[in-house]
Amino acid sequence: MLIKLQLLSLAVLLSAILTAAETSYKVGVGRADCTGPAAEITFMGYAKANQKGCGIHLRQFSRAFIFNDGKNLMTFVTVDACMMNHPLKQAVIDKLEALIPKTFTLQNTIISGSHTHSTPGGWLKDVMYDFPNLGFVQESFDALVDGIVRSIEKAYKNQVDAQLYMNSGILLDSNINRSPAAYAYNPTTEQNKYEYNVDKDLVQLKIVRAKDDVPIGVINWFAVHPTSMNNTNCLIHSDNVGYASILLESSMEPDSLPGKTSFVGAFASTNLGDTSPNLKDPICIDTGKPCDYTHSTCDGKNEFCIAFGPGNDMVESTEIIATNLFKKGKELLESANSTEISGELRFIHRFIHMPSQTATYTLSNGTTINVHGCRAAMGYGFAAGTTDGPGEFDFTQATTTSNAFWNIVRDFIFPPTKEDAECHAPKPILIMSGAIQVPYEWQPSTVSIQMFQIGQFFVTAVPGEFTTMSGRRLREAVANEITSNGGPNNPKVVIAGLSNVYTNYIATPEEYQLQRYEGASTIYGPYTLPIYIQRYKELAKALISNTPITDDSEPYKFPNNLMSLVPPVIFDASGWWNNYGDCIVQPKESYTIGDIASATFVAGHPRNDNMQEKTFLNIEMQQKDATWKVVATDADWETKFIWKRQETFKPISQAEIQWKITKKVNPGTYRITHFGNYKYIFGGIYPYSGTSNSFTVST
Ligand code: ZN
Repeated sequence: MLIKLQLLSLAVLLSAILTAAETSYKVGVGRADCTGPAAEITFMGYAKANQKGCGIHLRQFSRAFIFNDGKNLMTFVTVDACMMNHPLKQAVIDKLEALIPKTFTLQNTIISGSHTHSTPGGWLKDVMYDFPNLGFVQESFDALVDGIVRSIEKAYKNQVDAQLYMNSGILLDSNINRSPAAYAYNPTTEQNKYEYNVDKDLVQLKIVRAKDDVPIGVINWFAVHPTSMNNTNCLIHSDNVGYASILLESSMEPDSLPGKTSFVGAFASTNLGDTSPNLKDPICIDTGKPCDYTHSTCDGKNEFCIAFGPGNDMVESTEIIATNLFKKGKELLESANSTEISGELRFIHRFIHMPSQTATYTLSNGTTINVHGCRAAMGYGFAAGTTDGPGEFDFTQATTTSNAFWNIVRDFIFPPTKEDAECHAPKPILIMSGAIQVPYEWQPSTVSIQMFQIGQFFVTAVPGEFTTMSGRRLREAVANEITSNGGPNNPKVVIAGLSNVYTNYIATPEEYQLQRYEGASTIYGPYTLPIYIQRYKELAKALISNTPITDDSEPYKFPNNLMSLVPPVIFDASGWWNNYGDCIVQPKESYTIGDIASATFVAGHPRNDNMQEKTFLNIEMQQKDATWKVVATDADWETKFIWKRQETFKPISQAEIQWKITKKVNPGTYRITHFGNYKYIFGGIYPYSGTSNSFTVST
């Protein structure tokens, strides 16, 4: 009896050890500043050539998460950038190889863009994507590589024993569908399965340190376009999701400055293709009347049809959406209802050549047809832009007929063949990007498809912007494939949007028929989605069964010398009577809560140094012992760093620093300091700083 009892307790002990072993993960979190050149570089997102940087409202950050079960290590990174593309991911992997050899590969690393539309562009290399920037911008590229690498390094060094939890909750009043006319083309039976025409679920992966049960990081996924800041903004901005991260991180460590907390809280992109944060229905800004529903036009023109809200201006709207995201994220983080994740870590990755892909596709009437991909091409509706940021020419969404003038322009660049036209129908082709490689690739043909398994939690990394229904179909297909191949019974599948390679949009074949912006930007033709679904199912099956899968293609290799028409900073000048850092417009002597304090300094060009992990400004408060304590930097929501050249033909610049004095500011004495670098006419870059007079803040 005694022996039996001893054996029994030994068995219990052993099973406890085994269970513990099964769920033991090492997890590391790391965040780094990846802010790019803060002035004169065109932003990536709205494709508006004159939307150039003029300073900073919120800094860009890269947030990295390492998952390691002793057998497999993998990293998920979300970065405050419009998207990710292969050349940049490859540069990150190459740089990591030199720092931490034999650890990070294209296969075990997902880099996902947050999709903010207010950060410097020109780093994607593909001609189509760097076009608004007049070509490649090395500074933008290097800034992102440096920041992303540092975030991964930090996460790698920070690995601790941790438990992982997943949770999700409904978040209302934070997104709408911006192409409801296209969504309505999906089968009614399918639409009836869902309450809303956008996803309202916020999905969360939480990381809790084992030794003290303290949360150290979290990744949230919610389908909303970070386009609260519109195409009139010129300050670097991480938009609604970036500010939600700052709010969440600051709420965990209120005494730390933004970007300096040890807790890392990410809001990453997912199937946000047809979603918008601009909750008020689009209106014609000239008449105030509603736009045409199908085409988003006003009297036949697209430029005046714009969606706003929920706030009175873009900054207030950003704050409202960010606060909603933050509150839901925080609620889930503190909730006891989360499910612990257990089981193996695995990853799988494959390069596929989209124009050569074939698949079978079952139509809603039950007939199965064979389908294939097309060479990449953009439709007329793409050039119309969206109600978040309309295009600049006379294009309209939902266009299925072409126009003689633009066809001449198109054919001058590259004419589509009869096969191209048939493949893309009913899309009228505007740019036959997949056929052009002069001076180099215009849009990718080879894409990256990738999945992570974290126990019963699956991250599906997709190379573009899946619409709501495209995402729902993909998640359902992948989950079924996982279960039917012996994987976990209730797998939680999330889509990591805009990961690894950028290939615009992925609409359903039904949505594609209307050719709104998302359909017109579905670049591999009407069956892009069914092809992806079939390839991701194969990927999921291979992942679950631990079978290797081979690439059918490899990414395009860009030449070393890329076209670039962005002029460098020649030199700076401070003017005859001034020195760099001189405060030429002093703040007022006193302010009260609700005011905006400001000071203007003689400045150098911000492109001389992006000041990563540093700041262009400090707001300092005088302490009892007469020393000064930094209470805000340029990464704070309440501050703005606004830079401009004082005169067009002289390289004299000014930096205006604004500080919004909110209720959380304590009464006292404050001052504003500006930091920068100037480029000397005979070469060399030198730092400078300057401080304003002090001023008082009273209630
Ligand atoms: Zn987008």
